[in-house]
Amino acid sequence: MYINRRDFIKTAGLTGIGFVFADFGFDIPKVKAATEDFKLTKAKEFTSVCHFCACGCGVIGHVRDGKLINLEGATDHIVNEGSLCSKGVGYAAIPNSDQRPQKPLYRAPGSDHWEEISWDEAIERSAKSLKKARDENWTEKETIDGKEYKVNRTDAIGFIGGSQVNNEECYLLVKMARALGIAFIDNQTRVCHSATPPALNAGFGRGAMTNSWTDLRNTQLVLIEGSNIAECHPMGMKGIMMAKERGAKIIHVDTRFTRTSKIADLHVQVRPGTDIAFLGSIINYIMENKFYNEEFMLTHTNAYHLINKDFKFDDGIFSGFDGKSHSYERKTWGYQVDAAGKPIKTTDLNHPDSVFSKLKEFYKRYTFEMASNISGAPVEKIKEVADMLVKYQPGVIMYALGMTQHTVGVQNIRCFTIVQLLMGNIGRSGAGVDAMRGQPNVQGSTDFGIMYQYFPGYLSYPTHKTATLEEWTKDNGTVGRKSLVNLLKAWLGENATKENNFGFDLLSKRNGYHNDSLYVSFEKAVEGIVKCMYITGQNPQVTNANLSIVDKGLANLDSLIVQDIFVTETAAFWQRPGCDASKIQTEVIFLPAASYLEREGTLINSSRMIQWRYAGPNPPGDAKPDIEICNHLFKKVRELYKDSTQEKDQIIQKWTWNYPDKDTAETVLKEINGYDLKTGKLLNKIGEMKDDGSTSAGLWLYAGVFGNGINKSKRRGGTDPSKLGIFPEFAYTWPDNMRILYNRASCDKNGKPYDEKRKLVWWDESAKKWDGYDVPDVPNILDGPATPNGQKPFRMASEGVGRLFAAEHKDLDATMQTRDHSYTPVDGPIPEFYEPIESPTENALHEKVKNNPCVIYPRIPELQKIGTKEEFPYVLCTSGIAEHWCSGAVTRNVPWLNELVKEPFVEIPVKLAAQLSIKSGIDVKVRSTRGEIKVKAMVTDRAKPLMINGVETFMVWMPYGWGFKGLSKGPSTNYITIDALDPNIQIQEFKACLVDVKKA
Ligand code: SF4
Repeated sequence: MYINRRDFIKTAGLTGIGFVFADFGFDIPKVKAATEDFKLTKAKEFTSVCHFCACGCGVIGHVRDGKLINLEGATDHIVNEGSLCSKGVGYAAIPNSDQRPQKPLYRAPGSDHWEEISWDEAIERSAKSLKKARDENWTEKETIDGKEYKVNRTDAIGFIGGSQVNNEECYLLVKMARALGIAFIDNQTRVCHSATPPALNAGFGRGAMTNSWTDLRNTQLVLIEGSNIAECHPMGMKGIMMAKERGAKIIHVDTRFTRTSKIADLHVQVRPGTDIAFLGSIINYIMENKFYNEEFMLTHTNAYHLINKDFKFDDGIFSGFDGKSHSYERKTWGYQVDAAGKPIKTTDLNHPDSVFSKLKEFYKRYTFEMASNISGAPVEKIKEVADMLVKYQPGVIMYALGMTQHTVGVQNIRCFTIVQLLMGNIGRSGAGVDAMRGQPNVQGSTDFGIMYQYFPGYLSYPTHKTATLEEWTKDNGTVGRKSLVNLLKAWLGENATKENNFGFDLLSKRNGYHNDSLYVSFEKAVEGIVKCMYITGQNPQVTNANLSIVDKGLANLDSLIVQDIFVTETAAFWQRPGCDASKIQTEVIFLPAASYLEREGTLINSSRMIQWRYAGPNPPGDAKPDIEICNHLFKKVRELYKDSTQEKDQIIQKWTWNYPDKDTAETVLKEINGYDLKTGKLLNKIGEMKDDGSTSAGLWLYAGVFGNGINKSKRRGGTDPSKLGIFPEFAYTWPDNMRILYNRASCDKNGKPYDEKRKLVWWDESAKKWDGYDVPDVPNILDGPATPNGQKPFRMASEGVGRLFAAEHKDLDATMQTRDHSYTPVDGPIPEFYEPIESPTENALHEKVKNNPCVIYPRIPELQKIGTKEEFPYVLCTSGIAEHWCSGAVTRNVPWLNELVKEPFVEIPVKLAAQLSIKSGIDVKVRSTRGEIKVKAMVTDRAKPLMINGVETFMVWMPYGWGFKGLSKGPSTNYITIDALDPNIQIQEFKACLVDVKKA
């Protein structure tokens, strides 16, 4: 089944929503027949997993003479069942693309061209650049708040990327970065979904999509908010369409009418950045009218917990605010506790101090009229959404970057957790909060802690405040300590002993007051503090907001190392239009990487499913898999340090790093899975980890993926005894192969399923254990409902229950030591609506507090200006499209996709276009206070003008994935977007800033 350009264009165009069905894989017999053809010609067949969004679709490839000759959807795959979307099919053009670099490249300071160099030279130059920046800029001790701390850290290196490489590569990247003592560690999740883990964690105790793509078929209602799933996660639509066929209703809430709205029963347009007002009114409606699930709330949430009497909220500000530091002292956000430190509960839901009462009182202000005034959505439509949420059960909420990319990104998603806890829609089949990740392995790069604030497994990275293992444990708890000890055993082997605190003291310590995010790393490069950057599979020269800071930062580096499959805009920043290369002294080393089809290893999709990718074609020329590059690079770094006697270099010398050149990925996956160090056996599950140093695990969440010595990520078992889409023997999910998180909450307090038709787990009284179609999410399967452990449906939250109010809480054990703690967002225990930093109106709820009071912006006043509505009257919202993905580094090199969408554009509402005398197809200038770009106008009726606070308000929309490299070139939208950040997680406000639009 060879796909030619004509077939591709024809089919992608016909399908309308990005599916490539009829001709390319949906027709299963045809696929089988075609596959037979290939067998006859003796092509090598292999399976892998798509490169783009995190649906994680399976592909089958065919290779002859080392070249890819065919790529199609895998018919036995549980997510895509043989289909691929236009991007997934389009990737077939990449392995044989003549745009791929075949050799390492070097750009000397001041030069205007690349030179080809050998791998030896490229690795040596890269290792020396990292060493130079580290050695010349090492901070051994730092005085903070008048006290001296040993921090052993370098702030001179930025280490970026990971969401486009495999898990094993993520692991090696972060392991290398932590050995080098780098503070600025980050990846694309910062820009996309970094708001998701803290938000879901604050509500449920874990930070990931709760249900699976294959569970969508069981729902009665799908609320999609802040996502154009039809274009951005097309295969996610399969489950939704299956549910629709079974009678489910679909609601789409978004800033425009998109291809997703087309298939919805109800579409509601809202102004960008007003989701909290919209959802707050729904929470109010549910509570005022007693539409909540009282039995679920009583059994599975903190609704009955009593809140500290000093907790207050007044005129937009919670108790404990310090205006100088823009931060809260969060003591008053805790519970009333007993002598053992346990939360005190009431039996009266309406007790004035109960979580329920606090929440109800708080959201009283959020009437439908108020929500309509703020969001622009009509009152009757908001009510219709609320009524449908109540009527159709179970219901699932799905979202993507429309919710995360705001200065209130975390609190946006917190609203979903509250709605679903009120409605009893968590832990159940057909329910949940589904975070749709947009990069192939962004779940993995987040799991592996390629973020400055985490170790692998979401364990906090130590700061000066937690500089000893004892202090760290006091803060994080003994549950986290066990995982950390296992990680340190994986990283330091025999050099991690009980006596030396498992090597904790060797680790670098962050300054707890620093924001070490991707954004600040470029700001520090502008200041001359960051001197070297190592960037893997990420293209910040296109994807960061307020790009002129990236321009300046890259130009101010001593050295830049970029590892990618194409020479990206980031690698070639010195060649951008209008730039005088002779004035740029940054040396650039480009390391050509293998594409996903050319390398092996695992990746994890949005629903936590870890799958194996087999290698197919040979990489072009000398390009190498990332795992090989990382392996050789750190070996070279270690060689450079082998004779050092300095204390700071001990960690590099003691680090475990003896990976073979063959089967590297499986060797690394075993290290990630972990071992019983006494027997040498691989761990079978998380529960086998010990806290005494007798076991190791590079990532506690993944323990079991290689259980019994079987690489379970390779499994293709298609049986599903539940008939609910659980497929327990297909690949492997964390934790412990559980498909639906918090599934204990699908049962009542006695362990009986609420919904017999969709039952997942249950307490088996005769066998005296928890059983089910899914792995029961309980602390111990033998601890029944009559025990405290049997009543912890949200066992990863320190209270064991779902958190309607994200109280400040640590669970203490019998010795009053911290066992575990829950996450509380820094900007409030309950989501409050604030206007975006650049907004066309005032805050209708509290005039004096317009924006999120915890946001610090500008950080660099001369580079970060705030536009006014007088000069920039229109709201700009940006996002992706079906045909081009992320920075476009890959898709803009696929000629077929370029034919579908040729260049960037701005979508302008019909009424505004008429006012400005703009017609479709003409050139227009879109200008913010940060920059201006010229693109084509596209006049549509998809975003209607909205009445906001009594004023007609327009929104324009743009895709963001263009730059000056690749086969399709165009100006980058991010020169005009704003880099104001959510205070919890430093994600930028891509979805709302102010612009002006004029004819060019
Ligand atoms: Fe599947 Fe997403 Fe790839 Fe499309 S882009 S084929 S939906 S994984």
